[in-house]
Amino acid sequence: MRVQGSMHCPCGREKILATGLCASCYTLKRQDAEYFGGLREMVLERDGYRCRVCDAPGGRKREMIVHHRVPGKSVLALMIALCPGCHAKVHRTKAVLTAWPRLLLELWREQHPTGHEQTTLDFNLKKAPAKPVPLFVEEREQVRK
Ligand SMILES: [Zn+2]
Ligand SMILES: [Zn+2]
Ligand SMILES: [Zn+2]
Repeated sequence: MRVQGSMHCPCGREKILATGLCASCYTLKRQDAEYFGGLREMVLERDGYRCRVCDAPGGRKREMIVHHRVPGKSVLALMIALCPGCHAKVHRTKAVLTAWPRLLLELWREQHPTGHEQTTLDFNLKKAPAKPVPLFVEEREQVRK
């Protein structure tokens, strides 16, 4: 795949590999093929280089994240452009607030099929309350009897 005559990568860098791309463009291209079925650019373009949840512009497009709605499935309809903040929410948050935007909720549910959805923060949701432990003083009194 040698590009004859060209000493520059399309991105402008001078050092190119035998592929006609510089090292970082080549890495991105390989990752695109490997993880996004070569569709990363198409997803970003379709979504206008903006986060589909909060509409934040991607600026330099490398800062946008292409999220797989079904892990490992690189199909255009199942990929979506997100900003790093919204993407982190989709993956990392363990419980959501229903006040989230609808799309964000939907994406979160896809990644957390057994997760809890909450209208208020409640940190005791998952476990039954612990058995009441007798107070130290009471225990001593019981021993004395
Ligand atoms: Zn390059
Ligand atoms: Zn966003
Ligand atoms: Zn993701």
